[in-house]
Amino acid sequence: MARHLDAKCRLCRREGEKLFLKGEKCFTDKCAVERRSYAPGQHGQKSGQRMSDYGKQLREKQKLRRTYGIMEGQFRRTYAAASRSKGVTGERLLQILECRLDTIVYRMGFGASRTEARQIVRHNSILVNGKRVNIPSFQVKPGDAIEVTERSKAQLRIKAASEAAESRGIPEWLEVDSKGLKGKLKALPARSDLPSNINESLVIELYSK
Ligand code: SF4
Repeated sequence: MARHLDAKCRLCRREGEKLFLKGEKCFTDKCAVERRSYAPGQHGQKSGQRMSDYGKQLREKQKLRRTYGIMEGQFRRTYAAASRSKGVTGERLLQILECRLDTIVYRMGFGASRTEARQIVRHNSILVNGKRVNIPSFQVKPGDAIEVTERSKAQLRIKAASEAAESRGIPEWLEVDSKGLKGKLKALPARSDLPSNINESLVIELYSK
């Protein structure tokens, strides 16, 4: 399966903001964006260059794709699904991304990062409505119950991630029992519940050409 091989902190520095790709390190002063707030590479420190509209659209799409850790083809399919579904395409795009099983596991705090959450899903450690699901892109629906399997509940990394996430706060659209390592998707998140640093209309403009 295709996957990103670039160093994660480089991706954040390229986008000029924190994408929270590395778990706990992202919340410390070791974060590369905090230390070197310019793009990586030889010309990274040059500033003042104007970006075209196309460039802005492309960067926003890359940022969104990198945040959720998905490849171009899958991102296009997700966009196509969002544009076919009822509702505002941009909001639906974000909802579909947020309702991926790996993202829900991450948001519930069972993985320190999306990458770790994806690995937990792939390793058969997650039950959806009592059944094992090991597909990271699986769409979780409102009312679905998510639980870490009994065998995996003893994993220290899952416990540590859950404690850290609980102390930072769990999103309102989720119901989480951090001690029991289980939870539920209460409802689809509204746009106001989702990250404000994403300008999804630029992505729509890019794909509408
Ligand atoms: Fe991005 Fe996290 Fe690395 Fe900071 S520590 S640059 S937020 S991946």
